[in-house]
Amino acid sequence: MYSAIHDAIAAWYGAHGRRDLPWRTHRDPYRIWISEIMLQQTQVKTVLERFYFPFLEAFPALADLAAADLDDVLKRWEGLGYYTRARNLHRAAKLCVTSLPQEAAALEALPGIGRSTAHAIAAFAHDAPLPVLDANVKRVLSRFFAREERDERILWQDAYALLDTRRPYMYNQAMMDIGAMLCQSRNVTCNACPLQSGCQGQNDALRYGRAKAKKSVPSRHRALLVLWREGKLGLIRSEERFLHGLWGFMQSPLPLEGRALGSFVHRYTHFHLHATVYEPADAPDDERLVWFDRSEIATLSLSTADHKALALLDALSS
Ligand code: SF4
Repeated sequence: MYSAIHDAIAAWYGAHGRRDLPWRTHRDPYRIWISEIMLQQTQVKTVLERFYFPFLEAFPALADLAAADLDDVLKRWEGLGYYTRARNLHRAAKLCVTSLPQEAAALEALPGIGRSTAHAIAAFAHDAPLPVLDANVKRVLSRFFAREERDERILWQDAYALLDTRRPYMYNQAMMDIGAMLCQSRNVTCNACPLQSGCQGQNDALRYGRAKAKKSVPSRHRALLVLWREGKLGLIRSEERFLHGLWGFMQSPLPLEGRALGSFVHRYTHFHLHATVYEPADAPDDERLVWFDRSEIATLSLSTADHKALALLDALSS
């Protein structure tokens, strides 16, 4: 039904697709998986420039990741955020040890691998005829089929309906590129788009494929406690779900007796942290505290907010 459009997509991808991205120059399921997980919440440019290569240098194969300490994995993930991704990668590697399963259903059963990621690994590594449905592809499909509502069930139906089952690798890569390059959320270039001949939404494209309005994000006001003992700083391991396993300053509600050293705001997706770096008048005696000198701290995995607090301390002491 869509064979002319499939040919147009193939021709467009051959001429304009981002075929030189390093995770597109091979069929290694492990490296494809790492790239897919990194790209879930992070832009291509950031992944390319700062994270993809160092991570693979540290853990060149699945067996290396399976054998690694979680702390080392978190350290390599530092700055990428959404640390659950790193913990799930590590858990999945330990379950698989030497090779990832080939079937999408088995991939989807692993920690941190959703349906779209499972399809991406299966299609890109093994040519499985399955559609990928990331945020870019959802937007393209919503416009192509003129869907005003974001309904996952319908999106999957549409994804299967348009899929080029003869060329799933090329088709899925092209759809992601079309979303990133031509059919952007606030900018559409329909004239250059290989889907244009069948696109039902092109005359009013911005009406379709809109992401749900973001809820307003709450603020948390916290003191990050600077605690010294014999020239060492006291840090604790976070037990919060999204930073679990990372080291950081102990936090306390404000107001508090003591001395404020400086403040900053750090924006997480689900809340904004208004942090005051604080020397409390009474240091808490907490058994979770572990004492580190500055060179030891450099080897730990810290969240970006804790790095900001540390930079503030460094600036004050220099
Ligand atoms: S024709 Fe326009 S609206 Fe339709 S998919 Fe292409 S860029 Fe998006």
